[in-house]
Amino acid sequence: MNPAVSVLLRVTSAHVAYGKVEAVRAVSIEVARDEIVTIIGANGAGKTTLLNAIMGILPLRGRVTFAGQDLARLEIEDRVAAGLSLVPEHRELFGSMNVEDNLQLGAFRVARAVAAYSIERVYALFPRLKERRKQLAGTLSGGEQQMLAMGRALMGAPKLLMLDEPSLGLAPIIVADIFRIISELRASGVSVLLVEQNAQAALQVADRAYVMELGEFILDGAAKDIASNQRVAASYLGLSHEGASAV
Ligand code: ATP
Repeated sequence: MNPAVSVLLRVTSAHVAYGKVEAVRAVSIEVARDEIVTIIGANGAGKTTLLNAIMGILPLRGRVTFAGQDLARLEIEDRVAAGLSLVPEHRELFGSMNVEDNLQLGAFRVARAVAAYSIERVYALFPRLKERRKQLAGTLSGGEQQMLAMGRALMGAPKLLMLDEPSLGLAPIIVADIFRIISELRASGVSVLLVEQNAQAALQVADRAYVMELGEFILDGAAKDIASNQRVAASYLGLSHEGASAV
C-alpha cells in the first residue's frame, strides 16, 4: 500500500511551549487509518499538551497534516469538520443537560440524517447511554460520563478520535469496558490516538506506541515490543526486568 495514502495524521518536529518553557520538543508521530496508537508516559511528560496542540487549542511549531491536508491554517472547528476529534481529560460535558442533548451537541455540524444515524451507532456502542438518555449528564457515574464524552465526539463522525486519559479515576471493570469499546472503534473505521497513564491497558489495545518523557519521545514501536521493553516494564508497567528486553 502507498504509505502516503494510509497515513491519516502526521506530526513532524512539533514544539509546543508555555511562554519560554517548551513542554513538547521535536516530536514526530504518525497514525495510520484503522490504527490504534498510544502515547504513554508519566504525569507531566507533555501528552495532554501534544493532543491539545494537534487539535489547535495550543499553538504548535512544526508541521501537522491530517488526511493529506496541512492543518496550520485551520481553526478548531474546521479540524473537527475534517474528521479530527478530541475527548479531553476532564470530559467537559454539560452537566445540567441530559444525555441525548449532550450527544446532539456533538452533531451540530453534521447533516440531520448523519446525526440520526450517529446517535443509533453511539447507542449501539454504549447501550448504557440509551438507557439513561433522559438523565442529566451531571448525575452520571464517572464511567458513564466518559462514555458520554466519547459518544459526543463520535457524533461528529470523526476519522480520528484522540482520547486523553479515558480511564482516569474509573473502576477496573469500567476501564475494561472502555478499552473494549476502543477496539470496536477501530473495527468500525475510526482510528484512535490514545494518551494513557494506564500503560498496561493501553499497550494491550494499541497497535503501536510512543513513550514520552520530559516532552520528548524516547522510544516507539509495535505495542507488543514496547510492552516487553525492559525500561518500559520497569518504569511504566510495575514489572521487574526479568523477561523484558533491553532498550
Ligand atoms: P498529565 O497526565 O498530568 O496530564 P501530561 O503528560 O499530559 O501529564 P502535560 O499536562 O502536557 O503533561 O504537561 C506537560 C508540562 O507542561 C508539565 O511540565 C506541565 O507542568 C506543563 N504545563 C501544562 N499545562 C501548562 C500551562 N497551562 N501553563 C504552563 N505549564 C503547563
